[in-house]
Amino acid sequence: MHALATELFPICRSITGDGSRATLREIAERIPLEVHEVPSGTQVLDWTVPDEWNIRDAYIAAGGERVVDFHASNLHVVGYSEPVRAEMSLAELRPHLHIHSENPEWIPYRTSYYTRTWGFCLSQRQLASLDDGPYEVVIDATLAPGSLTYGECYLRGEVEDEVLVSTHICHPSLANDNLSGIAVATEIASALTAREHRLSYRFLFVPGTIGSIAWLSRNDDLASRVVGGLVLACVGDAGPLTYKRSRRGDALVDRAAEHVVGRVEGGRVLDFIPWGWDERQYNSPGFDLPIGCLTRSIEGEFDGYHSSGDDLALIRPDKLEESFRSGLSILDVLDRDRRFVNLSPKGEPQLGKRGLYRGVGGPDPGAEQLALLWVLNQSDGGHSLLDVAERSGMPFSQIEVAAERLREAGLLADVEGAPAG
Ligand code: ZN
Repeated sequence: MHALATELFPICRSITGDGSRATLREIAERIPLEVHEVPSGTQVLDWTVPDEWNIRDAYIAAGGERVVDFHASNLHVVGYSEPVRAEMSLAELRPHLHIHSENPEWIPYRTSYYTRTWGFCLSQRQLASLDDGPYEVVIDATLAPGSLTYGECYLRGEVEDEVLVSTHICHPSLANDNLSGIAVATEIASALTAREHRLSYRFLFVPGTIGSIAWLSRNDDLASRVVGGLVLACVGDAGPLTYKRSRRGDALVDRAAEHVVGRVEGGRVLDFIPWGWDERQYNSPGFDLPIGCLTRSIEGEFDGYHSSGDDLALIRPDKLEESFRSGLSILDVLDRDRRFVNLSPKGEPQLGKRGLYRGVGGPDPGAEQLALLWVLNQSDGGHSLLDVAERSGMPFSQIEVAAERLREAGLLADVEGAPAG
């Protein structure tokens, strides 16, 4: 995952343009991905797909020498800047320059998608080194009708009910926000392609806000199939694993995530707020999809957020791994939670004669034994495996293994029609 983030890091992404396409091409080498193009000017819900932005070069130069260079960092140009070719003094240029308010070394990340303007971002140190000029100011970019690009990976399961996993792909060279989300989403999708699953899965790689709005606007029918999902963002930094609940707050995904994240050291569960990433769109009242958000630090909570401080050193392989495992575990609960009925409910069935009880009793039943007893005790047709995991305080995976052993021994039967959502 860190290697994928490293590979994608230099690409200048935005909400449209060739950087998004290059990013999706890399993802498509790892998972099956359908790439969609939505033409500029298309009405999507209350929004309009903007013109496409592509940038080739940009710089501020004095005496032929570049003092600010897009090729040194793509953060140097305000995203969606109009093309510029001019000579101006520092005083004329200054309103178009943006610096980080706190750290003198960092280049801030700025965009202006829906208001036409142009600008450069630079460190306080760089700004301090500029004399009165004049400067040659060039932004070699095009802002013209084209399209918005997003990627969709659909993994068909046994049923049409589906889980939606969404991550934004619109930030340039920023690692935690948002390459970590891209890397973890790709890895989870890749893991799912290698195994059987009951539910269908849809992974969306979309530019923030306008991308999820475009998908929702084109897929009203599919949205109604969504039984749960996750927005993945900022999942690589050292902050604690964090789940933010869906608007509903008590959907199966909320309970599944609370169960999984609650078992991770330092894990946090936060209530829904209509802020953050694309969960804002999926949880808008007209859709109200049960989609929460898996993050580590939340937006603005880590040093370097939306600046050159958010580099590849900020994201750590072990944290990406923990986020990946936890995300996959949440999806596993959605996929496998079901209810059973105990076929021998009067008294405990004799496990020893079925090879399910260890021969020599000790003071402590051991986790495996206890899991069997919990499943037998709670399987009255009303409690699901997640209910048992929550009540017992044992991991869902262990409860599931116990249920499978009991089913194989003829002691449990599936309850038909257990709800997925
Ligand atoms: Zn961001």
